[in-house]
Amino acid sequence: MTARGKKTVRDLRRGSRSTLLRRLYFDGPLSRQELGSITGLSGGSISNVTGELLADGLIEECGSVESDGGRPRILLRVAAGRAHLVGVDVGETQVRVALFDLARTELAASDRPLDDRGHDAGHVAELILTGLADVLERTGTDPGTVLGVGVGVPGIVEQADLGRGVGPDLGQGVGPDLGGGAGAVVHGQTVGWDAVPLGRMLRAGTDLPLFVDNGAKTLGQAEMWFGAGRGTRHAVVALFGSGVGACVIADGARFRGATSSAGEWGHTKVHVGGRRCRCGARGCLEAYVGAEALVARWGAAPPGGGEKAGLAALLAAAGAGDPAAVALLDEAAEYLGAAIADLVNLFNPERIVIGGWAGLLLGPRLLPGIRAAATEYALRFPREQTEIVLGTLGPAAVTVGAATLPLSDFLDSGGEFPRRADGAAVGAGATGRWT
Ligand SMILES: [Zn+2]
Repeated sequence: MTARGKKTVRDLRRGSRSTLLRRLYFDGPLSRQELGSITGLSGGSISNVTGELLADGLIEECGSVESDGGRPRILLRVAAGRAHLVGVDVGETQVRVALFDLARTELAASDRPLDDRGHDAGHVAELILTGLADVLERTGTDPGTVLGVGVGVPGIVEQADLGRGVGPDLGQGVGPDLGGGAGAVVHGQTVGWDAVPLGRMLRAGTDLPLFVDNGAKTLGQAEMWFGAGRGTRHAVVALFGSGVGACVIADGARFRGATSSAGEWGHTKVHVGGRRCRCGARGCLEAYVGAEALVARWGAAPPGGGEKAGLAALLAAAGAGDPAAVALLDEAAEYLGAAIADLVNLFNPERIVIGGWAGLLLGPRLLPGIRAAATEYALRFPREQTEIVLGTLGPAAVTVGAATLPLSDFLDSGGEFPRRADGAAVGAGATGRWT
């Protein structure tokens, strides 16, 4: 810790490392000259810091470009294989654990279905830990190179342990987001989790750094960083799956509320006294348009096929002109459009991104109706400022988003490898300087 307002040389160097790593990560490859003009750092600083990052193996040279009349300029990029990230999606029917390199290439994934214990917290923790061991073993990955395990869960995550410090705004997309670490407590009303100490349960089985957050929030972070939200500072990313959630981005940072539960859009009311929702209340959006609700309301899905097959059958039936299926999907588009109009009126976003597996499956059919309903229900001026688009990251966005939790921490720290719970340095850099 430093005194308020006083920065040490170490803080400044860490800040410069973070700035350059971040620019190379999001916009690379770049030459040293381009880094200088983007960041405003002096030529000397760029040269020193890139020298350090090269020595630590965090960045690498990757060819060169001609410059006007001068020597060719060497391009630099983040070294994808230098470290690894793990993203976990605790889904409706399964737990997916994916191992990524720094460039977010998926190296291995483990999909483990929930058994008849369903979302029993001990069962879920066990599936996460066995999936983690499985992907590390299959790829021969040294756990010392893993920057952390990000876990996206259904429910509200209370961040009891805020990790190692808040960094600067990212300039585009979502601001830094610290994981709940081993202190994360999850309130997942729709899956029967009441103050589940998931962080502590996982800590019992791994000493890797842990980051736990709501699945809609991790999806939102992924779309903001790498997908359809890029380039905006005011956006809402809606997760439309079995349930419905949202991640609200206000002025480049996630809007969290007092205890991180902001964005529970699926439980906003669309019908007073209406259908009973999984949360126990009546008339929630999720009770009308969540995949589970749609399949149940249609009632004509082939038995035993699960929600995804049921929703695909509903879509096919509507495509074939089945009047009940057409009416249900038209009504879903209107509900979603009206609920999006509420987001437009409340938050004045530039863009609303619809993601999640059901959003991607139904989106192409529903989008025109959603846009029309949003226009009909929203105030005209903010509606004119808002685009409504589909997510671009596909169904794996939740695991990618979960993996961005340790990634964000790593970039903020200027490429510092975290320490394990036992205090031992993890994956020391070539110089060991930052461990
Ligand atoms: Zn509800």
